[in-house]
Order: sequence, then C-alpha cells, then structure tokens
Amino acid sequence: MKIVRQIHSHILTNPLYSPKHYALTKILAFCALSPFGDIDYARRVFSKISYPNVFSYNSMIRGSSLIENPSKEPITYYRKMLRKGYANPNSFTLAFALKACAVVSALGEGRQIHSHTFRYGFDSSPFVQTAVLNFYAKCEEISVAQQVFDEIPEKNLIAWSAMISGYARIGMVNEALSLFREMQKVDVRPDEVTMVSVISACAKAGALDLGRWVHAFIDKNGINLDVELSSALVDMYAKCGCIEKAKTLFDEMPERDTKAWSAMVVGYAVHGLAEDALELFSRMEKAKVRPNHVTFIGVLCACAHSGLVSEGQQFWSSMHTFGIEPSMEHYGCMVDLLCRAGLIEEAYSLVETMPFSPNSIIWRTLLVGCKNKGILDKGEFIAERLLKLEPLNAENYVLLSNLYASCSRWEKVSYVRKKMKESGVKAVPGCSSIEVDGFVHEFVMGDESHPEAKEIKEMLRDICEKVRHAGHEPWTSVVLHDLGEEEKENTLCEHSERLAIAFGLLKTKAPVVIRVVKNLRVCADCHEVTKIISELYNREIIVRDRVRFHRIVNGSCSCKDYW
Ligand code: ZN
Ligand code: ZN
Repeated sequence: MKIVRQIHSHILTNPLYSPKHYALTKILAFCALSPFGDIDYARRVFSKISYPNVFSYNSMIRGSSLIENPSKEPITYYRKMLRKGYANPNSFTLAFALKACAVVSALGEGRQIHSHTFRYGFDSSPFVQTAVLNFYAKCEEISVAQQVFDEIPEKNLIAWSAMISGYARIGMVNEALSLFREMQKVDVRPDEVTMVSVISACAKAGALDLGRWVHAFIDKNGINLDVELSSALVDMYAKCGCIEKAKTLFDEMPERDTKAWSAMVVGYAVHGLAEDALELFSRMEKAKVRPNHVTFIGVLCACAHSGLVSEGQQFWSSMHTFGIEPSMEHYGCMVDLLCRAGLIEEAYSLVETMPFSPNSIIWRTLLVGCKNKGILDKGEFIAERLLKLEPLNAENYVLLSNLYASCSRWEKVSYVRKKMKESGVKAVPGCSSIEVDGFVHEFVMGDESHPEAKEIKEMLRDICEKVRHAGHEPWTSVVLHDLGEEEKENTLCEHSERLAIAFGLLKTKAPVVIRVVKNLRVCADCHEVTKIISELYNREIIVRDRVRFHRIVNGSCSCKDYW
C-alpha cells in the first residue's frame, strides 16, 4: 500500500499522465481486491473518479463483498452504476453483485439482478447462470435453484457444488446425495468443497450409514483430507451419535484449526459429556489455538447440560478476554444454564442486561424455568413477551398452560386453550427421521403416507399394548387439544418419533442401533415410552432432538431425564 500511495500521488500531481483513468482503475483494483490492499483507500479513490468505468464498478462491488462482516454496500455500488447509466454491467458485474446478495441473503435485490441478466443478454452465460444458481441455493430458494441448474447446459464443478450444498444446507439429504451420484455418472470429479457439503448433509440428517459410505468414497478416491474436510467428518460422526469415531478421527488429524477443535468440543457437549468437553477446551488452550464463538457455545452448552453453574460463569466472563462479543446464542446457553439450575432470577437479570432484544428461544427458556419452579407472576409476564414475538407457535401456549396447571389455576388453563383456538394456531409439526438401507425416511405426526404405513401402525399397536402392560400411564397433559382422553392417548401414540422408532423396530434387528433425529424437543411422554421400549424390545435407541442426544439403553437414558 505504501508504494501504491506513492504512485497514486505521482499520477495526481504529474500533468504528463493524462488521461489518468486507466492508471486509477488499476490502483482501485489493487486496493479493493488484493489481500494487501485497503478497501477504505479504494472507496476514497473511487469517490474521486468522475466517470467510473465498468472495471472500477466491478472492483468496488467485488471488493466490498470480500470484507469481514459484509453489508449491502456492494449492492449500492451496483445500483449507482445503473442509475448513472453510462456504464453497462457485464457478466462479471452481474456475477459479483449476485454473490454479494447471496452473502447477506438479500433475496429481493438478488431477484432483481437475476432479471437484469435477461435485460443485458447474459442469461445464457454459464458463468452468470452459475452465480444465479449459487444465489438461490444460498438463500434457500431451492426449487428456483433447481430450475436454474437444469437450464445450465454445461454444468461445471462449481454449479454441482453449489446445488449439492444448497440441498445440504436445508437438510434435504436424499436430494443432495442423489445429485452427488448423478455428478459421478457425468464424470465430474468432486473436490473437497463438494465432499464437505455432502458430509454436512449427512450430519444434519443424522444419516450415519450414508456418512460412512461417503467417508469410504473419500478414502477410495484419494480425495485430500484437508483440515476442513476432516473437521466435517468429525462433526458428522459426532452428530450421528458416534462420538468415539469422531474422537479417533480428531486424534488422527495432523493439524487442527479452531474449527476442528470446536467441532469436537460441540460434539462432546451435545452428547452430554461435559467433562470431556471441558478437558478438550483446556487442551486447546495449551495448544495455543484461539477459541472462537462456536467453541464457547460448546463449553457453555456442556456446562448447561451438566449443571456446572460456576464453571459456566467463568467461561462466560473469559469470553471477552478472547475478544468475543456474546451473541444471542451465547446468551441463550447462559440463560439455559441458570434456568436448569433453578436460578430464574439470575437468568432474568442477565436477560435484562442484553445489548439486543431477546429472541423467542430465550423467552421460552425462561418460561420453562418458571414453569418448573411454579413461578406464576414472572412466568405470565414472560409469556406475554413470548406470545407477542411468536403468536403462532403452539409450543408457547402449551408451556403457558402447563405453568397454570402446575399452579392449579384451571380457569386460566382453559382460557389459554380458548385463546390459542381463537388465534388459529397450529402446532409446528414434529418431524422425525430414520435412515434405513441408505435412505432417510421422514415421519410427521399421524403420517399415513409411508408405503409401509399399515405395518407401522400394527407395530405401534403392539408397542402401545406392551408399554401399557409394563404399567405406563400416558402423560396426556402434554397434549393441548380439546380432545377426549382416549383421543389424546392416540395422538401421543402417533407422535413422529414413535412412528420412526416403530419403523426402526420393524426394519432392523439387534444389535443395530435405532437412530432417530427429531426437529423439536422430545416430548416427555415419548421419552418415557422410548425408555420402556428399549427394555421390552432389548434395543439401543439414540434420539437426537433439537437440543441434544438421548442414548437409551435398558430402560434408562444418558440425559438422566434432565433435558
Ligand atoms: Zn411424544
Ligand atoms: Zn433422555
């Protein structure tokens, strides 16, 4: 930059250099795009150019989207260019602008730029099409992305990657993997980036067998196991319930960056292995690897799951020595930690000091705390906040109603039910999945669309009878509908996790572990029933819910009924 500044002032002061435009364009490109450049300097140079050409605009659009914490700045440069009107966008302008929109998830702006690709005649350029595809995939507009993908005649590796990771991001693992197989058929060789997407799709879906297959594929095809890919494998094995395998892979890594350490810390945390998580954290410190915000989510979550209050508070205060500003998620972990320990007042005071307004997850955690301790007035106040933020989430009404029930305020219980009915709230459908023979089967409550629905139903009936025989009384209070007792019981029996477990019992034999992934928290009745099933059918069942893993063997769960 020092030399560039000298050249710049030389150009400005020397009348021989005229026109200066060409040289300024070059200076701009260096300042905006080079890792040794200076985007602020670029901004100043750009503001002094009276008629910036397309190259200068491109430098600014690209450069301002490469910075840390990018904003919509690149889009304002793009708009300026169109408004001034003397320079038309070329294929690079459109691709850079689309990429900038993808980074900040600017869906509306990106759609407009997509329409401009037709206006300026770049709609059939594979380069621009790939950028359009990448934009829609990153913004989770997967069906549009698929359309664009289908229209690209010569699909390059980037297009395949972008599409696979688009599916992976929203957890459509079957689609991501079938695309991956298709890619091999047309002989496009996958690279590390593709494999990271495929592996993270498996992690998200908890598809262990597929994950193992992909791992074998990587080995067989000699794909370079770089730090990022190894970390993705560690993360996949941890999230699929194989914490030992994750540990082996982690130990074998020749070098580990922050991401790798964090994946392992978080892995231990969601498995409820707090001691291992904290031990690993101190090893990480000794290895002089700087923890990041993910690492801290791991240690705080580990402390929360094991009720380690003072340790959690220490980690919390050590965050700022590492220069990490607590995010919403960190506050969420801390509130969870305090509420689980019954320290509702402390949790509430922490929420009051937050520099941003709490999200619904934090209010809900507080409400759960109030419900468990039977704190009515504060609970009501919190519920009010929560329902203002999320008036259409049935879970919130269920919690409030349970709070009233725990304080025997029955008139209020029926009031909440009425209110819920009036506002037309529908429950977020619970969805559970299980992988059998390399395919992920998904179930929602009362689902009869599965080709083997009849057999599953018979299995459920069998389970229901046996569980009842074992002396279990269904906890119908977790169902908030105006149903008769019998109907409530039936509703519980058809919860998505039970459908998935029934399918697992039907399709696999011991010692195969039944692994189920659920999008919500496991409900209390299903948790109890799963414990009984593990004993009656002599099966190991691992349920990963929104919060953590439950490893259920011989009638007891690794969470010790604390989740
Ligand atoms: Zn249930
Ligand atoms: Zn459990």
